Amino acid sequence: GNGDSKTTPLKEKEPESTATDTKTTTVKAAFVSLVRNQDLQEIVETVRNLEDRFNSKFHYPYVFLNNEPFTPEFKSAISNVISSTVDFGLIPPAHWSYPEWIDQEKAATVRQTADYIYGDSESYRHMCRYESGFFWRHELLDKFDWYWRVEPSTKLHCNVDYDVFQWMQDNNKMYGFTVSIKEFESTIKTLWSTTKEFLDANPKFIAKDNMMDFISNDKGKTYNLCHFWSNFEVANLNFWRSEAYQEYFDYLDKKGGFFYERWGDAPVHSIAASLFLSSDQVHYFPDIGYFHNPYNNCPLDQSIWQKGKCSCEPMWDFTFQTYSCTNEYYDFKKLKKPDGWKKFRN
Ligand code: GDP
Ligand code: MN
Repeated sequence: GNGDSKTTPLKEKEPESTATDTKTTTVKAAFVSLVRNQDLQEIVETVRNLEDRFNSKFHYPYVFLNNEPFTPEFKSAISNVISSTVDFGLIPPAHWSYPEWIDQEKAATVRQTADYIYGDSESYRHMCRYESGFFWRHELLDKFDWYWRVEPSTKLHCNVDYDVFQWMQDNNKMYGFTVSIKEFESTIKTLWSTTKEFLDANPKFIAKDNMMDFISNDKGKTYNLCHFWSNFEVANLNFWRSEAYQEYFDYLDKKGGFFYERWGDAPVHSIAASLFLSSDQVHYFPDIGYFHNPYNNCPLDQSIWQKGKCSCEPMWDFTFQTYSCTNEYYDFKKLKKPDGWKKFRN
């Protein structure tokens, strides 16, 4: 690495290549962040915290993506706080615009009447479609197998002292999450019926040991709205690049629900991971203390909390609250719950 312990003041920034050149790991991984120029202050805070809690030990590179060019101020402020290399990418217009089969007037009418969060937003819909179907096709990610999604205003509460990407690879995981939650039904009215049409036509994609019983309480008849919160993801890009996922995304995209409803990338990713992966390829991180407004993943386990020097209060933890789905995830996977989980249930 390029030595955070250097004491010489006013030392010039080292050439950007040194950090990754000396890496011994074979894991091809990067942080990926879709952001706007106006998110600069929030993302710099987040990245600096990520460096302090994790990346100052591992020096994984960053990729920033935007539908508009990043400003020189944005690039220099990011470069100033990281211990690794960074690429800034522009999203091709074809990945952030309406497919020709979408009726844009119908989409506009939906936005005028939708009564759910971000219901009136056109850019939010492009964002959700991009995170579902396109970020993993960006050429800056071609050389990577793994990514860790980073959003502005998020925070790591605890030190992460092991190489999370290496751990995922060594343990045959494909998708890792910190928070799960139930979706607003009004945003995805036809997502499940569309998914079932796809599954009926493509049963070969359904994994044998899948997590259908985590996302459905009636063997697949209905969706229980549980999903992994996608603002944090550590996952394998090759899953999104798989035939199963690409065909699933294309099927959803043709139906238009990203624009005629407000399908989120979180339920889309989660349904795919739950059905096309075997359940042991999905991992919950009890040890990665995490915050995205308004919820926290804060370790209830005393020894994890102490070892990680966590700055969160376990009583703020969302994991076992009613609106989370992680309690059901523990049940589904028959995992041992930490002491104290019951006080979050009423
Ligand atoms: P929420 O977490 O669902 O409330 O949505 P956010 O506002 O946090 O957006 C999700 C992610 O997409 C964040 O990383 C945002 O910075 C990013 N994002 C949202 N809209 C846009 C956009 O129009 N352009 C770009 N470049 N990024 C966006
Ligand atoms: Mn967010």
